Amino acid sequence: MRPTAFSPAAGSPVLVLLETDADGAPAPRLADPAVPHLSVTDQGVTRGDGIFETALAVADGLGTLRMRKLGAHLGRLAASAAALQLAAPEAAAWEAAVALGLRAFTEANDVAPGDRLAVRLTVTRGPDAAAGGVPAPTAWALLSPAPAIQDEERRRGLRVLLLDRGIDSQAPERSPWLLTGAKTLSYAVNMAALRHARDHGADDVVFTSADGYLLEGPTSTVLIVRTGEDGVRRLLTPLRQKGILAGTSQAVIFAAAHADGWELGYGPLVPADLQGAEGVWLVSSVRGVLPVRAVDGVEIPVDHELTGMLQAHLDADGDPGRHVSGD
Ligand code: PLP
Repeated sequence: MRPTAFSPAAGSPVLVLLETDADGAPAPRLADPAVPHLSVTDQGVTRGDGIFETALAVADGLGTLRMRKLGAHLGRLAASAAALQLAAPEAAAWEAAVALGLRAFTEANDVAPGDRLAVRLTVTRGPDAAAGGVPAPTAWALLSPAPAIQDEERRRGLRVLLLDRGIDSQAPERSPWLLTGAKTLSYAVNMAALRHARDHGADDVVFTSADGYLLEGPTSTVLIVRTGEDGVRRLLTPLRQKGILAGTSQAVIFAAAHADGWELGYGPLVPADLQGAEGVWLVSSVRGVLPVRAVDGVEIPVDHELTGMLQAHLDADGDPGRHVSGD
């Protein structure tokens, strides 16, 4: 028997479970985010064995919530699933789940233009058969009002520490089981790095490889603007092959900047490239474009005009073909 429909309360997160009907067709279902839904044997919990995406939904001028960069997020989710050999739901099932969640949020709240939701899609390997569970992936979408802290961070700028991730830049190729390019649930190391930074008077982190290349932030991609010895000003980001996540924000910003006439460059980049830069940013879907103002305690230039340009490129959203909205 199907459980009775759940109606989310105003101001609270909206949870959508990705279930299927008797024929295996997607049957997303609203559920109460305040009560447990996972088995204690779920390998997402016991082993961090699973994947996720965090995206942003923004209300347009009519107050309709739309998820940004839908195609890019679902593409990266599928790539992460393939890397983990995980049978994640197909794109159509996610689209139906997100549309249901956005609609439910809109019905429960007075949504105003510009309102923002963080949309988190998660798939775990599911209950452990060895512990008596039925071994099928568990998948859900959680939509939560997004905090506005990034406005203050954008104005102030971030102090970052360079922290060694402890693996060399060849390791991702040599050891694909490290899953460096997949967005897995195993973020305890990333969170520990952020705590280390905060304990040492910084706001965020840029990881480096053991052989000294710039990689990424624990939840962000690094962007740099600098003028090369050839006199050309370029927008740069570290080389993906060094073992970083393919950022959807970086991709959108690069595409728009290229259309605007910017020269682009993909690493390899080293810490000295940060000190000589005209600007350095950490970019990600929910926090957006945040300027870096100090690296390991040394101040670097902050260019608010460039920050505004990069944020405008991100807001323009280069993935207009496949919006999922709360309409
Ligand atoms: N790198 C890592 C490790 C991340 O966790 C994230 C986002 O959470 C990013 C980069 C930025 O990705 P996106 O721009 O797609 O949000």
